[in-house]
Amino acid sequence: MLATQDVQPSAGTQLAFEERSEGNSELAEELRQVLHERHLLDLRASRLAARFAATNEYDDHGFASPIDWIRFNCHLTSTAAADLIAVGENIERVPESVQAVSNGEIGFPHLKTMVRTANAVGARFDEASLLEKARENSAGKFYYICDHYRHAADPKGYEAEQTERVENRKLTITTCDDGAVLIKGVFDPEGGAALRTAFEPLARKSGAYDDRSREKRLGDAAVELALHALDSGLIPQQGSQRTHLQVTTSLETLLGLPGAPAADLEFSSVPVSSKTVERLACDASVTRILLDSESTVIDVGRAKRTISGPARKALNVRDKHCVWTGCERPASWTEGHHLVHWIHGGTNRPSNLALLCYRHHWMVHEGNWQIIRDSDGRIVTIPPTVTFGPPLRGPD
Ligand SMILES: [Zn+2]
Ligand SMILES: [Zn+2]
Repeated sequence: MLATQDVQPSAGTQLAFEERSEGNSELAEELRQVLHERHLLDLRASRLAARFAATNEYDDHGFASPIDWIRFNCHLTSTAAADLIAVGENIERVPESVQAVSNGEIGFPHLKTMVRTANAVGARFDEASLLEKARENSAGKFYYICDHYRHAADPKGYEAEQTERVENRKLTITTCDDGAVLIKGVFDPEGGAALRTAFEPLARKSGAYDDRSREKRLGDAAVELALHALDSGLIPQQGSQRTHLQVTTSLETLLGLPGAPAADLEFSSVPVSSKTVERLACDASVTRILLDSESTVIDVGRAKRTISGPARKALNVRDKHCVWTGCERPASWTEGHHLVHWIHGGTNRPSNLALLCYRHHWMVHEGNWQIIRDSDGRIVTIPPTVTFGPPLRGPD
């Protein structure tokens, strides 16, 4: 009896639950209603926008185009303003779809896609069959369906559109005052897919202690891909010389001595720290220019690895992949790390070497992790000890 009472909600609780669920369904209904009204308003705005675009009012106000006037005065993006005008100008071509928006069967985004498709395929446009698809599918899925429809109806037109997207492919690389580099780009579907296919596997979580965000992992992946291309000689060269990151540094910097200046990295607008130089010089797949304290060049670019070809091959066979726990980057994507750096007298014997991928090599040098080989020859990783300095940051 007692047990039954325990699991039965009291009358008061039951009532509160019913009130709440009633409140939630009212909330959902209100949201649907408000958004339906918004679609109707968009429809009205599109008619007005098309009428406005047919006047010279924007010009009288000193704007370059009606889109520009709407963007600025109605607080919209250029795309949203252009969409409104495009729908308004073509509304006569899609009467059944306009009716469906009014009835709440489809939304304004469906209508935008419908108009875009009508414009693209011209006389072959069949509104009734597409409207059926619009009713059954989300706006995103409908957009995709219409792409296929356009290809079927007008392969040449579709091809021309894709060609234009390839022509408009672009990437801008800007260096900020603090040395940070901003990269912004727009790609066509094929180019974008190629980039994603290259980045995604590299951006997966790798090995133990990986708590990076997806954005951070994608950022690391882009750098890793570029370094791998440089390192593998995949970058086309004039002459036979491979492309390498060029570092100019003093011995004091390489030794990490107090008071040593930072090093210069080609294409980097700010100097790099001695920890970074230490990593870059670890496997020495970089061109080094060493300066003495008088800035006299004492060792110019031997652009070769400190670990010789045969030693590296033996290392690849032994380690097979990055030695970090749980990391599976293959040998060709790794660098040979000196457990005791050669600058501190470490040797090139196999016992002093281990393969590490770009990220784990970074963690060991700049990230202050330690990696050691225990008496049984097993690799052990030790997290950085807690310090009271600023928090550690990933590679910028
Ligand atoms: Zn190293
Ligand atoms: Zn690794």
